[in-house]
Amino acid sequence: MAKETEKRRCSFCGRTEQEIGFPLFIGYNGCICADCAEQTAIAIAELKRKVSKPSFEIESLPKPKEIKEFLDQYVIGQDDAKRYLSVAVYNHYKRLGQYKEGENNDVEIEKSNIIMVGRTGTGKTLLAKTIARLLKVPFTIVDATVLTEAGYVGEDIESILTRLLQVANYDVAAAERGIVFIDEIDKIARKSDNPSITRDVSGEGVQQGLLKLLEGSVVNVPPQGGRKHPEQKMIPVNTKDILFICGGAFDGIEKKIAMRLNTKVVGYGVDRKQEIIDRENLLQYIAPQDLKSYGLIPEIIGRLPILTYLDPLDKKALRQILTEPKNSLIKQYIKIFKMDGIELSFEEEALDFMVDKSIEFKLGARGLRSIAEAIMIDAMFEMPSTKCESLHITRSYAEEKLKKANLHALLQK
Ligand code: ADP
Repeated sequence: MAKETEKRRCSFCGRTEQEIGFPLFIGYNGCICADCAEQTAIAIAELKRKVSKPSFEIESLPKPKEIKEFLDQYVIGQDDAKRYLSVAVYNHYKRLGQYKEGENNDVEIEKSNIIMVGRTGTGKTLLAKTIARLLKVPFTIVDATVLTEAGYVGEDIESILTRLLQVANYDVAAAERGIVFIDEIDKIARKSDNPSITRDVSGEGVQQGLLKLLEGSVVNVPPQGGRKHPEQKMIPVNTKDILFICGGAFDGIEKKIAMRLNTKVVGYGVDRKQEIIDRENLLQYIAPQDLKSYGLIPEIIGRLPILTYLDPLDKKALRQILTEPKNSLIKQYIKIFKMDGIELSFEEEALDFMVDKSIEFKLGARGLRSIAEAIMIDAMFEMPSTKCESLHITRSYAEEKLKKANLHALLQK
């Protein structure tokens, strides 16, 4: 018997169990050692990665209308932005599916990166996050302000791709067809229209760096991010098929839009047109030249061909946000209390009060959460220790609790 094991060799490397110091795995017609099994597993994974094609068929993908319907469940209003996003994501899949073998590739579908302009707290990030739930490709959100703060332009831009690689589990092929949402893109705008006098190196430098990614190029990415490990091996990532969605508040851009609209109207003498301009929501007229006047370089604007906007949230929208989305604030509170066996309900007037306060403090949708939290904190603290089975929040209860809360702190949020 001992002789038998001495003779047995790995069918791949030819070593015996004695040489390896580990038992062989015996198959029907041969053996394999642990080392060779490990090597093979790595090689197979590598091979799979290389041949991995988008695993989706166009027929099985959600159509733009379905994508929008999904967004509608979580995001109130913002129809224009939703339509643009839905089409962009759907086309992104189509573009990824265009390289099928045997198909005519004369016409290449190019990617159409998107830029969304809208006041802070109107749902840009929420849209991006919601769409991420539906996606079948790696997705990440990055903040452009971080890129500015670092100052060392160029190196940090790649960290955007590090994040994408990480969510793709370092599957480069998957990352190369992912989607990146770059938030606060307006913060890297050139601060002055005249770069020769007040050179804003960080802003323009970051834009130049970003351009490289948007255009589509092979970028060497530090797998762990940062610049602290010069010895780490870089991973080349091609950004040609990565879809970039940018968002920004572009505070004050309305003035540039108004100026452009006025000049146009005066210039062409079409005074009837002026009457139909909705001065309350000038963002809807946004055009690429406004982004240029704001300080984005023309090359970046050219690489973000789809420009859309988000509406400011009025009282009606804020009221809807409180209760209607699938994941609305009020639904969340009801769930939290239900876990303690308490049935929570709200008087309509109490909800209206929260909305009014958010408008009064100019806190927008984001403020609804702070206000609701201030109103609910006492109940969340005390109720679980009582035998109460229900709680009805009235307007007067809400008023009293909010009065008690530190309003100043709320305004800081
Ligand atoms: P932005 O990125 O535009 O600054 P966010 O998407 O981060 O704003 O919005 C902040 C919060 O406000 C969200 O988490 C969400 O709770 C709420 N909110 C904002 N806009 C909407 C909307 N249109 N529909 C539903 N909730 C919204």
